[in-house]
Amino acid sequence: MVGTSGSARLEKDLSEPDPIPAAGVDRAVELMESGRLHRYGETGGGGSEVALLEDEFARYLGREYAVAVNSGATAIYLALTAAGLGSGDVVLVNSFTLAPVPGAIEHAGATALLVESTPDLVIDLDDLADKAQAAEALVLSHMRGHIADMDAVAIICEEHGVALIEDCAHTVGGGWGGRPTGTFGLAGCFSAQTFKHLNAGEGGLLVTDDEDLAARAVLYSGSYELFDQHGAAPPEDVFARHRGSVPNLSLRMSALSAAVLRPQLELLDGRVSRWNELYAQLESRLAALPGISTPVRPLKEQYVGSSIQFRITGLEPAAIERVISRCDERGLHVKWFGRAEPRGYTSSFSHWRYLDAASLPQTADVLAGLCDLRIPLSLEPPDIDAIAEILAGALDAEAGIA
Ligand SMILES: *Cc1c(COP(=O)(O)O)cnc(C)c1O
Repeated sequence: MVGTSGSARLEKDLSEPDPIPAAGVDRAVELMESGRLHRYGETGGGGSEVALLEDEFARYLGREYAVAVNSGATAIYLALTAAGLGSGDVVLVNSFTLAPVPGAIEHAGATALLVESTPDLVIDLDDLADKAQAAEALVLSHMRGHIADMDAVAIICEEHGVALIEDCAHTVGGGWGGRPTGTFGLAGCFSAQTFKHLNAGEGGLLVTDDEDLAARAVLYSGSYELFDQHGAAPPEDVFARHRGSVPNLSLRMSALSAAVLRPQLELLDGRVSRWNELYAQLESRLAALPGISTPVRPLKEQYVGSSIQFRITGLEPAAIERVISRCDERGLHVKWFGRAEPRGYTSSFSHWRYLDAASLPQTADVLAGLCDLRIPLSLEPPDIDAIAEILAGALDAEAGIA
């Protein structure tokens, strides 16, 4: 009989964000009372919340420069554009990623070329080495926090003269072999959208050690003639080389966003430890279920377990659909990357029909059974029990049918 194993229900909403720390709320209220929500002042130089965030973020990562913008996808677009990449340039990207990433490459006017992803959800190094010969840049998306062998990636990029831009939307606080993500290549791009590690609703940050890229990114971001009010920006003589030749695109971050982000940056390391504890607990329960496999994570990968991915193996799409709807009935809303039509925050390369059709049999196979759950910091042991029980029951019911 279908659905006989247990009656667990998940009461927790896994998509519920964590509250903004009180210090961020207070500062945001102060700003609203003053009306000073724009990052620049006509009279007062520097010292805005946005400039302070840029300084603190650059220092946190150990990079020279940081530019705050209005979204993570903007940061990627800006990194490409400020590096002079666009029309006629081929930009590689791993095929397991989120829609804003190929979107940012398209926005820059470049041609995205998708690279296969592995069953462990990172870029396929062999396919990367093959395709690097024809490409100017790689946007490496550490999708859902999975970090490729960065030593190997850096070598391939260097060998082929490919500029490396990292998409660190899910790896704020993460790294590879002791070095933070976002510091391996020309630029690192971060998102402050609500479902990432730092929540401003919307927001993005670009970091780099390249002074020309940094100055151009500031000018593109819409600094008017107030670039001296930036934190972690290059000196004036660098701006002098680019002023007048870079259009103002008005992609700025609001002071309100920066005000709520700064206290979260202070809490980040503690939150990373908590996420990783929860990930380890959930991972051991899910990996023990027959028909479920979880990605192997190398020792050098310092991931942030703010979500968990697992693959349902050995089931046809219709059966996976039934498993997911049984979970839904018990309050466990599993995201599934194998759907024919995209839904919510999942999508797959086959849905991006504005790109040249790509043959990516390995990634297609991986995505067919790939599922995803967010791990909110408020998750508790009974929630973990419920998740494991519901999933086990939903899979069992399928075994009963077959
Ligand atoms: C969220 C996300 C982005 C883009 O972030 P936005 O701030 O929403 O533009 C980029 N890459 C990945 C993998 C993401 O999950």
